[in-house]
Amino acid sequence: MTVLDGVLRPVVDTIEVPTDLLVGGVWRPAASGRRLEVSDPATGTVLASVADADPHDAVAAVDGAAAAAAHWAATSPRERSDLLMRAFALMHERSEELALLISLENGKSLADARAEVGYAAEFFRWYAEEGVRLRGQVGMAPSGANRLLVTYQPVGISVLITPWNFPAAMATRKIAPALAAGCTAVLKPAEETPLTALAVAALLQEAGLPPGVVNVVTTSEPGPVVEAMLSDRRTRMLSFTGSTEVGRLLLRTAADHVLKCAMELGGNAPFVVLADADVEAALEGAMVAKMRNGGQACTAANRFFVAAPVHDAFVEGLVARMSAVRVGPGTDESAQCGPLINAEAVAKVDSLVRDAIAKGARAVLGGQPGEGCFYPPTVLVDVPPDARLLHEEIFGPVAPVVRFEQEEDVLEQVNDTEYGLVSYLYTADLARGLRLSEGIHSGMVGLNRGLVSDPAAPFGGTKQSGLGREGSTEGLLEFMEAQYVATSW
Ligand code: NAD
Repeated sequence: MTVLDGVLRPVVDTIEVPTDLLVGGVWRPAASGRRLEVSDPATGTVLASVADADPHDAVAAVDGAAAAAAHWAATSPRERSDLLMRAFALMHERSEELALLISLENGKSLADARAEVGYAAEFFRWYAEEGVRLRGQVGMAPSGANRLLVTYQPVGISVLITPWNFPAAMATRKIAPALAAGCTAVLKPAEETPLTALAVAALLQEAGLPPGVVNVVTTSEPGPVVEAMLSDRRTRMLSFTGSTEVGRLLLRTAADHVLKCAMELGGNAPFVVLADADVEAALEGAMVAKMRNGGQACTAANRFFVAAPVHDAFVEGLVARMSAVRVGPGTDESAQCGPLINAEAVAKVDSLVRDAIAKGARAVLGGQPGEGCFYPPTVLVDVPPDARLLHEEIFGPVAPVVRFEQEEDVLEQVNDTEYGLVSYLYTADLARGLRLSEGIHSGMVGLNRGLVSDPAAPFGGTKQSGLGREGSTEGLLEFMEAQYVATSW
């Protein structure tokens, strides 16, 4: 707490933002004493330094989770639910300060940060409600010889790894179902945005979190630290949100220990506008799907496929809307789009745009990096099929538009990707939309909607976008194991 810079004053005057590790209910520095600096991507200002854990700290955190495991698994669903409800209420009470903290360390606009806090808090409420509703099953064996009793048990110690793009929501989307299920956890947030995760943990403590139920480990060396957590024989579950590349790496480690895995990985969302679509509604949805978090979302529209008859009107409307977006530091109340997370992200977006232009695409808006970590809203047209940005996550405010003639061809292009997280589809004909949705290989479809995230819905992807679901009852069951008891009476 003492190292927090003056920039964070308005936040830390109201909420607690610890900067140490949370291990077994105690805030303590890394064993090595090392620190990790956290900076504001809009200005490069160092906001604070947090403990920089090594593998010894990782094992200590698993010790903390292990010491609390039996007691927490034995608490009643109502007790767990009450804790989550208190966390929900506190998160609402502190929403302004949390939003400012998110905006400072992640760079997103305050409006996006406020929306994230609301979304993040809902996971506490939803799982507070869902955790007390879970039922098992009783059946009779087909032979009639015995009864089949199925109940759900907590899977056990869970390692939760989160990315920087939604530092609060990705943490609560894992913590809430893990706790509701009766699991204890070690959370390892992204090194770019540890402060939000630490603030969420402090808030949970204030809500009455018993020691060791959630432990938090921040580190600049996620490889060896996570390896130590996953290799610990007491760990039973890996819940990861991040890139497909790192996910693949962790699945290999998890395989060595046969861990239960829930993997929320990258996306390459198509946004399809059919000829009969309401173009205005499609444009509104496109702005949400593309520009939320400045395009730095796994659900961001990555490729726009627009039917020839509405192509020009759509592009014209998109350019008008994108050029009106106010770019600036997220903490500036008037900014609608903040900086990208760091200089590497800017370089990556720039290389994807350069590649598309070299292959024949035209920039009708933007197309050149801005100052520092800023990249301006960009619209590309005539994008050829081999442009890399149609196949890789852009993670920036760049909209590549492809014109199509036939519905059949577009489905083939939509599915021509290793990813399968979400797809967006705009049409006036609901039956046609539902029929096309069934042909799209993605875990989620926004049909005449540019936003799909909802705590009550099973969020997740097919193909290399992941394994398992978060949110909804399915997200709770990820942290549980079915146990079947055979008995006769
Ligand atoms: P990332 O994969 O680089 O990092 C994610 C997490 O993994 C971080 O906590 C990081 O510290 C950790 N990590 C990095 N290297 C590691 C290693 N070698 N061993 C263990 N842990 C390691 O991803 P990011 O850049 O933080 O986030 C952006 C990515 O996350 C995008 O691909 C995005 O699509 C994806 N994402 C997916 C969802 C979803 O729900 N499907 C949601 C948000 C973000």
